[in-house]
Amino acid sequence: MRLFVGISLPADIRLSLATLCSGLAGARWVTPENMHMTLRFIGDADGGMAEDLDAELSGIQVPEFDIKLTGIGSFSKRSRLRAVWAGVETNAALIHLQRKIEQAAVRAGFPPEGRKFTPHITLARFKTQQIDLGDYLEANGAFSSAPFPLEAVTLFESHLGHGGSHYVALNDYPLRGI
Ligand code: ATP
Ligand code: MG
Repeated sequence: MRLFVGISLPADIRLSLATLCSGLAGARWVTPENMHMTLRFIGDADGGMAEDLDAELSGIQVPEFDIKLTGIGSFSKRSRLRAVWAGVETNAALIHLQRKIEQAAVRAGFPPEGRKFTPHITLARFKTQQIDLGDYLEANGAFSSAPFPLEAVTLFESHLGHGGSHYVALNDYPLRGI
């Protein structure tokens, strides 16, 4: 199975993100039910490793905190646009949580993630070339959300499909209020 650890977003946040999902030719927009933030991409895992990961994630103790979305960014590969996303305001608590999840993944036997964590919510993916984001960023670049509480982390199974991927929540790991 293909796994990742992430955060599912409140319905009102998804609705406000959905207002950003138009006005770019060639975009494959993420549907509101699929919007999420990835904290750790795991990739392929067998049942035993998934169980070990589940046990490690269950042991994470981090207090609940608020996050806030802000701005629009993009990922490119060899100067080709691959994704447009909404950003997350810099947040030490989120970095701390991400480190704990990274440790949990390594303890469960997955290879360490070498890449820097860039918290984001993907809005659109691209396969075509030559996309000018200028007008889109002018219209949407000042996006921000109200702060909202991050109450739980979720282990997702990702199902890749021709009509787009979809994700199934396997387990939630509530953060602890204090
Ligand atoms: P598709 O691959 O069909 O475009 P997807 O990227 O949403 O769909 P997955 O590839 O299963 O589905 O990825 C699940 C989540 O993990 C997504 O948020 C994706 O951006 C992220 N992700 C995928 N691969 C990696 C990777 N190598 N490193 C970091 N995050 C990744
Ligand atoms: Mg992918």
